[in-house]
Amino acid sequence: MSILRIALQKSGRLSESSLALIKECGIDFQNGTGKLKSEASNFPAEFLFLRDDDIPGYVADGVADIGIIGENVMVEKNQEVRLIERLGFSKCRLSVAVPKGKEYKGLQDLQGIDIATSYPRILSNFLQKHQISARIHEISGSVEIAPSIGLAEAICDIVSSGSTLMSNGLKEVEVVFHSEAVLIGNPNISTEKQKILEKLLFRIHAVQNAKKNKYILLNAPKNALGKIVEILPGMKSPTVLPLAIEDWCSVHSVIHEDDFWEIIESLKAAGAEGILVVPIEKMIR
Ligand code: ATP
Ligand code: ZN
Repeated sequence: MSILRIALQKSGRLSESSLALIKECGIDFQNGTGKLKSEASNFPAEFLFLRDDDIPGYVADGVADIGIIGENVMVEKNQEVRLIERLGFSKCRLSVAVPKGKEYKGLQDLQGIDIATSYPRILSNFLQKHQISARIHEISGSVEIAPSIGLAEAICDIVSSGSTLMSNGLKEVEVVFHSEAVLIGNPNISTEKQKILEKLLFRIHAVQNAKKNKYILLNAPKNALGKIVEILPGMKSPTVLPLAIEDWCSVHSVIHEDDFWEIIESLKAAGAEGILVVPIEKMIR
């Protein structure tokens, strides 16, 4: 019997959401603190808990079959792994920042300076693309203090809110890379493991679709039904049920979160009342 080995970050900014996703896929396992390995009790998978930086290498070597990491780490490590799926959480960006008091007019201001970063490959790709040459100093942590200790004139680091930059007297001047959590895989897994992976992906898609959609219920007078059905396409078409009072019905459908507010407004304008919107737990198209 084959088993899919899944590498997850042991502890950090990816861990919680990665574990939540696995749970939402209905996969149970013991996650004792400090455990390095755990087998799922109801799915042919085993989890390895590692430092995120090590995951691309382990997946490329086949120690793990798949793994969840930040796209930034995937690109920076440049290992032979394939990107299976973007997961939509742990979104952040890699940006260049300079001391607050420094005048910055554009990329040309980076020409010939010293930049400290933990992401030399991503930074150098960016600079090359814009034909800027700068000296890149690779440091593994606390990048934001580099300018104040005289190591570099600028940094390139992960930014989410900008408060770390601010407290170190820095300002963000260029976005170099947008990142989110990704599922990566070894390019040569066995057919049996591929089958397990497809099962897992089927579940991940059901979870993701559910998050992007909402179930909507409303009451409408029968004479407004035509218009309302037009506004609510649903998965196939909306469900229409009679109400106990005459000339009214209840309409059920599914709407995408992107169109949410616009649809609600049009529905109200068309005569809908008592609109309820509820989350969907799983959605299979
Ligand atoms: P490890 O100990 O596993 O090496 P780490 O300190 O390198 O952990 P974390 O800070 O946990 O890494 O970040 C892991 C990933 O989460 C990053 O590579 C990035 O993709 C993403 N990330 C980092 N900071 C943020 C943030 N502020 N908001 C959202 N996502 C982030
Ligand atoms: Zn790390």
